[in-house]
Amino acid sequence: MFSSLGTSDSRESKAKLVLNINTTLSLAHDKSFADVLHDIAQEIRTSIGAHQSAVSFIPDGDFQRAVHTHSFSSKYEKYNSYDVMPTGKGIWRLVIDQRKSVRFTEEELYSHPMFKRFSELKDARGLEHPPMPGWLASPVKRPNGEVVGVLQLSDRFEGDFDEHDQEYLEGMAKLTSIIFELQYVNHDLAEKTKQAELAERKLRRAVSSLQRQNQEIEQFVYVASHDLQEPLRTIIDLSEKLKKDYADTLDAKGNKLLSFVSDSSNRMRNLVKGLLEYGRIGKNKQLKSVDCIKLVKAVKKDMKTSIEEVDGELIINDLPIINAYETELRVLFQNLIANAIKFRRKDVPPRVVVSAKPNNGWTFSIEDNGIGIDKQYQDQIFVIFQRLYNQSEYPGTGIGLSHCKKIVELHGGNIWVESTPNEGSTFFFNIPNL
Ligand code: ADP
Repeated sequence: MFSSLGTSDSRESKAKLVLNINTTLSLAHDKSFADVLHDIAQEIRTSIGAHQSAVSFIPDGDFQRAVHTHSFSSKYEKYNSYDVMPTGKGIWRLVIDQRKSVRFTEEELYSHPMFKRFSELKDARGLEHPPMPGWLASPVKRPNGEVVGVLQLSDRFEGDFDEHDQEYLEGMAKLTSIIFELQYVNHDLAEKTKQAELAERKLRRAVSSLQRQNQEIEQFVYVASHDLQEPLRTIIDLSEKLKKDYADTLDAKGNKLLSFVSDSSNRMRNLVKGLLEYGRIGKNKQLKSVDCIKLVKAVKKDMKTSIEEVDGELIINDLPIINAYETELRVLFQNLIANAIKFRRKDVPPRVVVSAKPNNGWTFSIEDNGIGIDKQYQDQIFVIFQRLYNQSEYPGTGIGLSHCKKIVELHGGNIWVESTPNEGSTFFFNIPNL
């Protein structure tokens, strides 16, 4: 085991190297990095037959983060706890700067100008660096040539280190570089996994907090709109009664004010109704197979009068049968078609086309030839209560599209609009396969 490679021929040393490749690779499994380094130190020392060895890993050339280990024969037993970390100065520097092996006899080493006196290298308990009768050191390089480690041997069992020892150590330096690369990969991977886990935890917390807030808001909106209904009904009833019983006794201004009260409270009733319906989306939802042609035809029938009144046309292209929440889907088509008719141009009768295309599920489109929407408002309109016109131009509550968005999201899809002002708009939404 302690035989020296110096006496073997080159073929034997290569065989030994192959053997060591296996040993080295097996080291990379199930062991801490420090233990693997220690095994390499042990391996090079016993294979060559020397009393001292050391292995250092200097990630990115940073000595603050260096991992250093050594192995001693029983001759140097008392140095087992010697723990002065290399500083990257002294004779070491030679290996790093020259980027190749250095081999010295004791005399050559001690007389070298970069060699540091051992008295300068005492550990915490005052133990000096062990004497170094001869030295062989090889750099460990990354594939890009950067030196990230050093393998060292000192005090050969017999004689000085020779070129066979050097050849072996350089081979081991190559194997060590593979292990260092694994360490880089593991480190990067661990770092990335840690970051991903952290980000995921943060995201999960944010999502659950949002869900909670959303639920609270929905609950609040629902309760508030529910509670508003009663006093609102009273206001509407009373203003109707006022109109009926006191219209004669009021002057023109009084009657006008009264009709303002009546109009406003009717609008408020629509808003509250819209809010209540918005809050109900998704409650008691039940997925079922829905024939979209039948569904849109039913919507068309409901809207027959309002379409005919404006000389409008609703064309229904081929539509699929999909799994969806039927009641909600119907409200979705109804809102989009009603908007397409409502936001018509004055110069042409409204023409609305409903189509669908397969696309990871289905993408539906409701195309109109109406007033269109300026690019800058195309996201804003999906926010509740956001409207672009006042009541007298185009009446409404500003709830419809936010309602549509909520319904599409309930199905796990998206909704968006493409539009050119004064030419028309196409609302798209996709429903994935459910
Ligand atoms: P409402 O129709 O009650 O105003 P919506 O939420 O349905 O509320 O729509 C928000 C706004 O988006 C509308 O006020 C209108 O300005 C714009 N909009 C919606 N649909 C269309 C459309 N087909 N063409 C042009 N503008 C539209």
